[in-house]
Amino acid sequence: MADLFESATGILDEALQHADVSEDTVERLRHPRSALAVSIPVRMDDGSLRTFQGFRVRYNDVRGPAKGGIRFHPQVSLDEVQTLAFWMTIKCAVVDLPYGGGKGGVIVNPKEMSTAELERLSRGYIDGVHDAIGPDIDIPAPDVYTNAMIMGWMVDQYSIIERGRIPAVITGKPLALGGSLGRDTATADGGFFVTQALRSKVFDSDPPTAAVQGFGNAGMTMAELLHAAGYKVVAVSDSQGGIFKPDGLHIPSVAKTKRESRALKGVYCEGTVCEVVEHDRITNDELLALDVDLLVPAALENAITMDNVDSVKAKMIVELANGPIDPDADHALHDRGVVVVPDVLANAGGVTVSYYEWVQNRQGYAWTAEKVRSRLQERMVTEAERLWGFAEERGVSLRVAAYAQALERIGGAVDATGHKA
Ligand code: GLU
Repeated sequence: MADLFESATGILDEALQHADVSEDTVERLRHPRSALAVSIPVRMDDGSLRTFQGFRVRYNDVRGPAKGGIRFHPQVSLDEVQTLAFWMTIKCAVVDLPYGGGKGGVIVNPKEMSTAELERLSRGYIDGVHDAIGPDIDIPAPDVYTNAMIMGWMVDQYSIIERGRIPAVITGKPLALGGSLGRDTATADGGFFVTQALRSKVFDSDPPTAAVQGFGNAGMTMAELLHAAGYKVVAVSDSQGGIFKPDGLHIPSVAKTKRESRALKGVYCEGTVCEVVEHDRITNDELLALDVDLLVPAALENAITMDNVDSVKAKMIVELANGPIDPDADHALHDRGVVVVPDVLANAGGVTVSYYEWVQNRQGYAWTAEKVRSRLQERMVTEAERLWGFAEERGVSLRVAAYAQALERIGGAVDATGHKA
């Protein structure tokens, strides 16, 4: 099987046919600018020393400093981090942020670490990649299994090394350290705004039905937003499997239980009294095959491949995860008329509010939650409508439209720097 990076960059050739851009720009985008691998020695609570592998890839910085999260996961690899950094480059251009793309990762299962061990690992990661990051160089943020607490340790470690407070080096920080209001819900907010912008173009049933695969920060918040907007969310799942209720789950209660106990349970509430009820348990594959209007993959890469694409029945798929549909399955869905809102647009709300956080840090002035949310909405809706128009006009998928648009924006910067290859 081709590696993730090779298959992810394959779309460049297709997008090039629809973009007014030089082959030089595409050549620049086929290779990461730099990739750093570090060993991170961590003193464990039992006194032993363990060494973890970490990565930071600066993929491209022609439009601005590289930008992208840090993932803590046992399946992290350099191939994956490089691919995610490539997607960040495209994503930042799709929503027109003055950034390139980067990504980091550590091979670790954070669920098996104590809080103190996780803190030592996070600080050790920054010790390792310190020279490769900076507010004008490469700006990390949270990703899968990392969060504001981890970003807080990291920005503190960077500031210790620099002998001064540098909040703009990392986004997704706790509010107390210069984080932005609205950053925690931004990925889901952005995906929701895009879904709403396209709702009337795609769905004929009202209320539309929805299923969400992945109940981490993004998936859970998305399910809550959809429920509040009147969608019937019939199924949600986490890595252990899902729950299903044909007439709609009570998402606020399911989310509350998940936050409190980490468990995904069916809950029924009347007033303030809630009881756990037995819902049908379904597997992740069964969830992906449900006959719903909207499917939201919000977990990891390659949830939908040629192995299961034929079973997918949704009318629209909003990719809240990065890379949940592999390229062959993506073509198959497009041929069948399924609207796929690509990750580089659908989940760009996170990095957009990261950008607002970085701007606030540099202004030394915090925005209100309303200002953050309304600016996010405006940007997401504008870009969603622009891409919808482009895709209709050229008869291409939203993904090809997004890449073509990104190539033109990146190409403009490549050409303006003058040193074309
Ligand atoms: N990890 C998120 C993403 O994949 C956010 C990155 C950021 O805020 O820099 O888009």
